[in-house]
Amino acid sequence: MGSTTSNLVKYIIVNLDKCIGCRACEVACSGFHATPKYSSINPARSRVRMFVDELSDVYVPVFAGYLTASECSGRHVLTINGKNYSECSFCRSACSSRDLFKEPDSGLPLKCDMCDGEEEPLCVQVCRPGALTYMAEEKECDKEPQPGEVEAGLETLISRHGLQQVVDYVAGKAKKY
Ligand code: SF4
Ligand code: SF4
Repeated sequence: MGSTTSNLVKYIIVNLDKCIGCRACEVACSGFHATPKYSSINPARSRVRMFVDELSDVYVPVFAGYLTASECSGRHVLTINGKNYSECSFCRSACSSRDLFKEPDSGLPLKCDMCDGEEEPLCVQVCRPGALTYMAEEKECDKEPQPGEVEAGLETLISRHGLQQVVDYVAGKAKKY
């Protein structure tokens, strides 16, 4: 049997009934992730993007997840209050078919990091209607981190953006630490 380990798992629970589409979460996230921190506001840099359909009163905050290496081959259609929406509207991935969740300067994929280092994520702090709730709990997991995860991620980035762009980005990050 493999050894167990404990992980702090963080959640943001979204209550769509309370979201009013104000986009304060986008503003706060993009400021937090600007370089230097809070030096600029650019929602394109935000790890949470609002899907807004004002006519149907549908507002959905979508949090950046993982890079998808290519467009997925299947599509689902979601029906909300009798209206059909493409699953792509609410997808968390950065992929080749749209501009969402890509760093505007480098084109590299963005992922929500739960505002690492902050007691409570910025988007949750600024959400005045209370649509976002933060939770964290320790969870036991029976698997050690899989070897090769970093290598696989880098291979994907290099194949999509080229070695030089990835090297430049990592070098820029390294200067901050
Ligand atoms: S700050 Fe809250 S209410 Fe405003 S768009 Fe974001 S999730 Fe919705
Ligand atoms: S938790 Fe932090 S990084 Fe994630 S979307 Fe909210 S503000 Fe952005």
